Amino acid sequence: MSRLSLFPDLDAPPGPRIDEAALRAEVRDFVARATRDGLIRPGRQTWTTFSREFSRACAAQGYIGMTWPRRFGGHERDPFERYVVCEELLAAGAPQGAHWIADRQSGPQILRNGTAALQAEVLPRIAAGDCTIGIGMSEPDSGSDLSSIRSRAEPVAGGYRVTGRKIWTTNAQHADYVIALVRTAPRGEDRYAGLSQLVVPMRSEGITVRPLRDLRGEEELNEITFDAAFVPQANLLGAEGDGWRLVNEELAFERSGPDRILSSFGLLAMLVHAVGPMPDRLAAAEIGRLAARLDATRALSLAINRRLAAGLPTGALAPMMKDLGTEFEQEVPEVARRLLDLRPSETGSEIEGALATAILGAPSFSLRGGTREILRGIIARELGLR
Ligand SMILES: Cc1cc2nc3c(=O)[nH]c(=O)nc-3n(C[C@H](O)[C@H](O)[C@H](O)COP(=O)(O)OP(=O)(O)OC[C@H]3O[C@@H](n4cnc5c(N)ncnc54)[C@H](O)[C@@H]3O)c2cc1C
Repeated sequence: MSRLSLFPDLDAPPGPRIDEAALRAEVRDFVARATRDGLIRPGRQTWTTFSREFSRACAAQGYIGMTWPRRFGGHERDPFERYVVCEELLAAGAPQGAHWIADRQSGPQILRNGTAALQAEVLPRIAAGDCTIGIGMSEPDSGSDLSSIRSRAEPVAGGYRVTGRKIWTTNAQHADYVIALVRTAPRGEDRYAGLSQLVVPMRSEGITVRPLRDLRGEEELNEITFDAAFVPQANLLGAEGDGWRLVNEELAFERSGPDRILSSFGLLAMLVHAVGPMPDRLAAAEIGRLAARLDATRALSLAINRRLAAGLPTGALAPMMKDLGTEFEQEVPEVARRLLDLRPSETGSEIEGALATAILGAPSFSLRGGTREILRGIIARELGLR
């Protein structure tokens, strides 16, 4: 079967004309300054590392909310320009945890489905680098099977009271808001009905956050308990009961960007530098294979992003891209281990630090944002194979 008959949606609308080289040069200059100022520490951080200072520096440069309307603090630039900036910052291993989720998916979600009051309250703060948002989807007994969540919102005067637990919420301890998927009606025949998304202000009473330590010893992940926490009516996204559709829309943004390809890019760049301009045959073959996969996956990611920007459906493409991208990210530390005689060490040289960070982070690449098995199930369904 030809590629086109399998994936009729692959061809994206043509890309815009922008001066890509000039933009990349501008971002690289920004990265060099941020590295000199100690805001970026190569090999020692990941893109989920929280740094308010770095996010404010990004905002001052116009790198947050790049495509959003100016009236919300955005910059009305083209989605491809945003893609280029994201690539450069990810490749540099910049710590974007204070704004990444808000810029990638929560802001766009509020822009598309938020009330006017919520948009005015939240979007300018995100664009200024002053607002962190968490993803409140997973629960202790509901990860892959997201529709089985039990957190619930009861209607009260002026809004809702939310009760329940969320888990694995990245950077929740710093979050100003968490977009929580909750039940607004009991589970019935249709398991996807009766779900809604609420933008929960994390400073409300009745919310406790407990950090969870990961393999790297970092405490980026958290458990949140909501005990009748109040959420204003204006913080409902879309209509009550729209939650399942909205969550899936959001996940297409979460599963198709350069952050699903470039988590170990810093290590790959260091590896290429370490083997030098005359690598032996094994190194040339291994690195060549990685480079080819990087290029092909990036082309798919770009095509999806153009489709998302044009409001077109992406079907199986986003889960496919995340599966391919995270496999690549996981293979980079394996190849580095095979080619170089290095001892991974978070306190060693830059490359030893990058290797340690990539090895310890790699198992999570194919869990966060949906596991490999779940993505492959969605791909099979989209292709009509199950
Ligand atoms: C670093 C990191 C950051 C995260 N950040 C967030 C966040 O900010 N917000 C948030 O809401 N969540 C977050 N998550 C949670 C993540 O989305 C879940 O871990 C993921 O969806 C899997 O859910 P689970 O952990 O409950 O595993 P389970 O759903 O219990 O799955 C366990 C295993 O069983 C497999 N499995 C389950 N069902 C099936 C099936 N039907 N067919 C085949 N295999 C199956 C899975 O693939 C997996 O291997 C994060 C996770 C990680 C690792």
